[in-house]
Amino acid sequence: MPHPHDPHHTLLAADKLAPEGLDYIRSQPDAELVNKPGLSEAEYADLLAAGGIDAMIVRSGISVTAAMLERPGDLKVIARAGVGVDNIDLEAATAKGILVVNTAEASTLTTAEHTLALLFALARNIGPAYKTMSNGGWDRAKYQGTQLAGKTLGVVGFGRIGRAVAERALAFEMNVIGYDPFYNAPTAMDGRVKMYRDFRELLPHADVLTFHVPLNDQTRGMLGKETFPGCKPNLLVVNASRGGVVDEAAIVDALDAGQVAGVALDVYEEEPPAKDSPLRSHPKVLCTPHLGASTAEAQQAVSVDAAASCLAYLRGEGIRGAVNAGGLRVDLDPLQRSFVDLTGRMATLISPMCTRGIASITLTLEGKPIAAAAGTVERTALVGLLKAHLDTPLNVINVASVAQSRGIALRTVTADSTGLHGPQLTIEIHGPAEAVDAKTPMSDRTRRIVGRVYDDGRPRVVEINGYHMDMVPAGPMVLIQNDDKPGMIGLVGTELGKRGVNIADMTISRRPIAASSGGRGGGEATALMVLKVDEEPGSDVLAHLRDQPGVLKVATVRLGGEPM
Ligand code: NAD
Repeated sequence: MPHPHDPHHTLLAADKLAPEGLDYIRSQPDAELVNKPGLSEAEYADLLAAGGIDAMIVRSGISVTAAMLERPGDLKVIARAGVGVDNIDLEAATAKGILVVNTAEASTLTTAEHTLALLFALARNIGPAYKTMSNGGWDRAKYQGTQLAGKTLGVVGFGRIGRAVAERALAFEMNVIGYDPFYNAPTAMDGRVKMYRDFRELLPHADVLTFHVPLNDQTRGMLGKETFPGCKPNLLVVNASRGGVVDEAAIVDALDAGQVAGVALDVYEEEPPAKDSPLRSHPKVLCTPHLGASTAEAQQAVSVDAAASCLAYLRGEGIRGAVNAGGLRVDLDPLQRSFVDLTGRMATLISPMCTRGIASITLTLEGKPIAAAAGTVERTALVGLLKAHLDTPLNVINVASVAQSRGIALRTVTADSTGLHGPQLTIEIHGPAEAVDAKTPMSDRTRRIVGRVYDDGRPRVVEINGYHMDMVPAGPMVLIQNDDKPGMIGLVGTELGKRGVNIADMTISRRPIAASSGGRGGGEATALMVLKVDEEPGSDVLAHLRDQPGVLKVATVRLGGEPM
């Protein structure tokens, strides 16, 4: 994540942005604008690689390719001023840990208005009537229309635009019904919109259908040869969502067969559609060239929103409109923030003990506040566990895909209730079975660390691998597993002291014999010393410590400063 207190952020406008967006950036005291639209792919790649660019804003005019992001310099966020991100290589951005955001909100009202413009124009034959008149004609009988008040509008996809369309259609006294499998209620808009659980159930009730869904395998061709027979006669159809949701070939057939009375399209399977596409010339098709979001207001809003989203992220204020950061929450309350901070410290602390590799990770989150931040806790834990073992720069944006690509399974168990101890996080790391011999007990293939945040707000580690403690994890730390016998504390203190390593704090935990490592033949008691030191000891100091009799394992980590 970017540092919230970094006072200076450089935003590259890599497409022609509305002047309002550029002025907005210039007006921000902590932002600098590099306005360079229209460069080549190689020029942008060089500009980024040279460093100093924190954010990049694009529209649909350039393609942000993997090659461009090969050496991204300081780039942390790409904002699409608009909705579609087809022109951004999301996989490449995610792999490099670059957040991608869009500004879908900004075009909602404008697209809803265009939908209604199409609907009214379609119902009243505005397109062909205008065409006739501009050709010198006057034909009133041919263009008799349909009154919309009292008709039923089926809104397919009840998201931002779908709802805005429904609200406006209600004002025109239409009956509105809806279908959205991810809208889980029998009615919407204070009971004014009946919601159907099945698309085919809605069809026989709608005089007009309007689509506001994303294009995916479920929605592609959802109105097509199979679904037309279930529709009302004289159906009107509007599609200002994505081309392909309404099957173009099937709709032309349905218009010719008189099954459908008229279609208005703003989006196409292929854009622009072929010059000889029947959609361009069919008398019952009203078409516009993807104008849904094309208003001065929306263009201003998207460019300001894109810049504001970049700056919010760079300032550490939050993520808006994220395209590639599923599950990540940044609007955390102070307790959740403390837990996320603790998660990073715990994962970093246990990470050097996972030298045999990681097959799977189990996170157990107890307590409502921490369970509610599960996505963020998961990503933070993965970064802490993996970053020391991988060369790839890791952060909360790319870590989930990196872990997945390595076949590292993550299982999260959440419980709203807690024991007497309050909210608690347990991280268990299971090593690959083949990495240890069959005699090694399961308990030794699993590394485990448990942490809590008490009422004082300070995070504590309360257990590492069965050793109990109460330790605030911070700064450079050394973990030493040793035989539980007299003289070990003195030995470690003397050896570190001789090499100029000052111990600031020390926690010692003894593990009961029964739980002690079977890997050493079993039976002998061991202890874990966790030392906070002023300076991280060098590798020669660690090697020397490892050679001392009774010392079993030594690891060192550097954590952030004392938590607030
Ligand atoms: P949104 O994410 O707010 O809403 C989409 C809705 O579709 C969601 O409520 C979702 O639950 C629903 N949905 C998903 N799968 C569905 C299915 N199989 N059946 C029915 N509903 C389903 O998005 P939005 O901002 O309202 O945008 C809607 C569409 O409009 C998008 O495809 C967007 O790309 C497009 N759009 C077009 C223009 C334009 O210029 N014409 C402008 C902006 C947006």
